[in-house]
Amino acid sequence: MGGDRLERARAALRATLLAHGVTPAVVDTLLSVPRERFVPDGDPAGAWQDRAMAIGHDQTISQPTVVAVMTQAAAVQPGDVVLDVGTGSGYQAAVLAAAGATVHSIERIPALAARARRTLAEVAPAVTVHVGDGTKGLPGYAPYDAIVVAAATRTIPPALLEQLRPPGPEGAGEAAPRGGRLVIPVGEPSWLHAQRLLLVERTADGFTQQHLLDVLFVPLVGGPA
Ligand code: SAM
Repeated sequence: MGGDRLERARAALRATLLAHGVTPAVVDTLLSVPRERFVPDGDPAGAWQDRAMAIGHDQTISQPTVVAVMTQAAAVQPGDVVLDVGTGSGYQAAVLAAAGATVHSIERIPALAARARRTLAEVAPAVTVHVGDGTKGLPGYAPYDAIVVAAATRTIPPALLEQLRPPGPEGAGEAAPRGGRLVIPVGEPSWLHAQRLLLVERTADGFTQQHLLDVLFVPLVGGPA
């Protein structure tokens, strides 16, 4: 009975994601990660509803459609090195790892990092969780093919732009490999104002910027917790 409800909830989420224009490949990646492992104990089918949920410490696990849009925009390829800022539950990091990336995830609240580390050790061993201030990036593992930020900021931290991989050189008759992608919510960090989810891409002569959708995220807080 419970299994039926879980399968119905997963099927409903698949339909919602496809209706939002998420590609079947990214949908499959999302559905391959057991979201019920990342939410506080409770109803497993409830974990698959398309909504953010509280995870303690005044923080949330992001809504599946937003995780999917961010993952799709990050355009992760197997073998990419990705920085995930704001580990929270570890769910977004696990989805990026399921897309084939080696993921470094940074969280400023030690207790959340510790819990995510335990979950990810079982579900997504390609993720390494670090405690620290993600506004500084994580220079020791840069450059990154993609950086995904799950908290809102008024201005883009320069360190994150600096740590994006520059585009590769063009080969004979081939386009240059893409530069690093930064997916980040920018705007007033408050529950009262939507922020603009931006895709910033490093190019040979600077950066391009694209508005993906409006979102509501908790603030990106500089400094240790
Ligand atoms: N990606 C998470 C998930 O899948 O569960 C959701 C993250 S939650 C919306 C945002 C997280 O960013 C919170 O856990 C918060 O503590 C963290 N955070 C805020 N400012 C930060 C910073 N400067 N460095 C690292 N983490 C930060």
